[in-house]
Amino acid sequence: MKIPLVDLKRQYFSIKNEIDKAIKNVVNSGNFILGENVILFEKEFAKYCNVKYAISVGSGTDALFFALKALGIGKGDEVITVPNTFAATANAIAIAGATPVFVDIDPKTYLIDPEKIEEKISDRTKAILPVHLYGQMCDMEKIVKIAKEYGLKVIEDASQAHGAEFKHKKAGCFGDVGCFSFYPSKTLGAYGDGGIVVTNSKKIAETIEVLRNYGEKDEYKFEKIGWNSRLDEIQAAILRVKLKYLDKWIEEKREIAEKYNELLSSIKAVKTPTEAPHCKHTYYVYVIRCKNRDKLQKYLFSKGIETKIHYKIPIHLQKSFKYLKYKRGDFPITEKVSREILSLPMFPELREREIEKICFFIKIFYEKESN
Ligand SMILES: *Cc1c(COP(=O)(O)O)cnc(C)c1O
Repeated sequence: MKIPLVDLKRQYFSIKNEIDKAIKNVVNSGNFILGENVILFEKEFAKYCNVKYAISVGSGTDALFFALKALGIGKGDEVITVPNTFAATANAIAIAGATPVFVDIDPKTYLIDPEKIEEKISDRTKAILPVHLYGQMCDMEKIVKIAKEYGLKVIEDASQAHGAEFKHKKAGCFGDVGCFSFYPSKTLGAYGDGGIVVTNSKKIAETIEVLRNYGEKDEYKFEKIGWNSRLDEIQAAILRVKLKYLDKWIEEKREIAEKYNELLSSIKAVKTPTEAPHCKHTYYVYVIRCKNRDKLQKYLFSKGIETKIHYKIPIHLQKSFKYLKYKRGDFPITEKVSREILSLPMFPELREREIEKICFFIKIFYEKESN
């Protein structure tokens, strides 16, 4: 039996009846775009995050892009973020016309190091874009404080942090805007692409509502040059079902993480994840740091265990961002971490005996290594 990194089929079968009914209802209604499911899901997700507005869009990338646009960020502006993230974070900044400026990460949490933000602020800096990576939140108190001091906007990339908390408040509600992805494997995932922007600002909400729908304000009255980037009714109906289970799934993932921590604690060559102070980690992925990472990954693969590296090549060393002229050594912590991290299988339906099997083989691997 193979153990995948994520198994979306197990989750589907656990809620199959509800999902099938939700999809069927949409198909029967003949209403596929910006209908009642989208309106209701936006309300329900806003309530879940404890914010006033949520505007759904076509993807997490679009959520970030629209957030930047709505805040008036574009050509000539700089946006501070991290090199240890998924490419989409920096892509959105660049596509909006602005320049991503990177800050190194904290070696324990792998999140932006707030102490290193101020030295990167210039006359052109317009925003800080912290990424709540792996399912846990950045220190939003420190980040918002710096932003206030320098008059900067804050855009949270919460694509990996649905339901994560900092000081008992949810991801997305600290910044001017919070952006989420509903890519299928995300903590809250659709059965296709999707994303959402949350905010307490009526003006930002209204701007994004117009931008996602061709720039149309009232029927056939176009106030801006907009895009077509919407969450469709089928995805919204699926997400409405899944949102009800989100907290339960997060709790199950937290229990799996605890089990991993316990079983791996005796292995010296492995460092289990650190939960940041005041944070509720939601374990979008369970990331260990380990010796002989690539060899371990190959070994686990040979035993039918799938793992991944989030992320192997930091953004500042990607070909796509060569024009920014960063070089190896510019972000030593990110670079070191990228050589040692490994994401183990993690999804709410992962079975106890599977966790035991994974940890057993990790143990065997290091026993062999030390001989
Ligand atoms: C998934 C992800 C995105 C992009 O979301 P898409 O829906 O795939 O466009 C952006 N940022 C981070 C950190 C992500 O993990």
